[in-house]
Amino acid sequence: MASLKLENVTKRYDDQGEVVTAVDDMNLDIDHGEFICFVGPSGCGKSTTMETIAGLTIPTEGTVYIGDRDVTNLPPKDRGIAMVFQNIALFPHMDVYDNISFGLRLRDYPQDEIDRRVERAADIVQLEGMLGRMPEEMSGGQRQRVAIARAIVREPDVFLMDEPLANLDAKLKVHMRTELQRLHKELDTTIIYVTHDQEEAMTLSDRIAVLNSGSLQQIDPPLTCYNEPDNLFVAGFIGSPSMNFVEGTVEADAIETKNFSLSFDPSSVDGVGVGDSVTIGIRPEDIYPGELRDEISDPSALIDARTDILEPMGDEIFAYMLLGEGETSMSQEQATSDQLLMSIDPDSDIAEDEDVQVVVDRRNVHLFETASGEAITHSLAGGWTGKSQTGSEAESDD
Ligand code: ADP
Repeated sequence: MASLKLENVTKRYDDQGEVVTAVDDMNLDIDHGEFICFVGPSGCGKSTTMETIAGLTIPTEGTVYIGDRDVTNLPPKDRGIAMVFQNIALFPHMDVYDNISFGLRLRDYPQDEIDRRVERAADIVQLEGMLGRMPEEMSGGQRQRVAIARAIVREPDVFLMDEPLANLDAKLKVHMRTELQRLHKELDTTIIYVTHDQEEAMTLSDRIAVLNSGSLQQIDPPLTCYNEPDNLFVAGFIGSPSMNFVEGTVEADAIETKNFSLSFDPSSVDGVGVGDSVTIGIRPEDIYPGELRDEISDPSALIDARTDILEPMGDEIFAYMLLGEGETSMSQEQATSDQLLMSIDPDSDIAEDEDVQVVVDRRNVHLFETASGEAITHSLAGGWTGKSQTGSEAESDD
């Protein structure tokens, strides 16, 4: 078990004469025993960052530390890491025992040590009784557990997992997620996990590292990323369906948008003044039908809207609302200032094409500087005094 540190790590590729910066001045401080997920859209640099930690890629600039050791130029085998990848490459002609023990046998470990490690790993990933099976006799989930057991027997300081569940079906994925959490608890080891699936990251991580275009946007516990995103990118990436964004201007006592206004005292928050262009962020679950206004502790004024498409999800209904003269149907990707997506109670008798009023909880309205995308506040009601440290014990001894 070891800590991990990236110091000013940059990786540039020469792509047919054009320079691609895959990782841009990345700084990361990861404690022993932390479960860290790298998330971000395809091409944001997750795998390249992982490869610099693994030693599969040497950074153009910067230093990688595992524990106290500078491992920047060490080959993968000398770094004390074990990797699990998306493609489960088991040897098809070897049974589970031989697959799990392959690396140890290659390194001439004594037989009783190999037996001890394989037994323990099989126990952790619940493959007892299956050591004699061939890979073709196993399900996808079982094969992935063999791959994880093969990593466990190496007794690495750090586990690196690159989309290990990506090829599994939805139900198995959820099951394996729980298994990974159990594994982490049992091994008490540092795990770095790459995924493009923010839900996976939310459920697994102690902290999520959100990447975009090669640079680290935020690294915080999942709920901090969700409730207090540092910028528009994190706000839009974390949470499903995505946060609504509406362009506005700061006035003396409100934020005015094209279709509604939210009362706001600019002097209550640093870094914002009258006339500033801001982007309001409201999560779908922080918008309520107007009749619930009295039940909200800090409600906005009522906002006129018309219901467009309704999507019943079982435990909630996603209701696409049109504001003002908004005529067009929208999808989540095309949301504009004329549209809001709200999540409502499944028992609601709401119908499509109805004139309604909605209300937002001002305590949960986020404000971003439009030009830079940086967060200004996460509550229009005042009282937000900076990022909470809840759940971020990992950061406490940084
Ligand atoms: P992710 O894992 O988030 O999808 P990657 O780390 O694979 O992203 O890639 C980051 C960027 O670096 C992408 O633009 C990708 O095209 C580029 N890249 C990755 N590997 C190479 C390479 N070997 N040569 C050139 N460009 C690369």
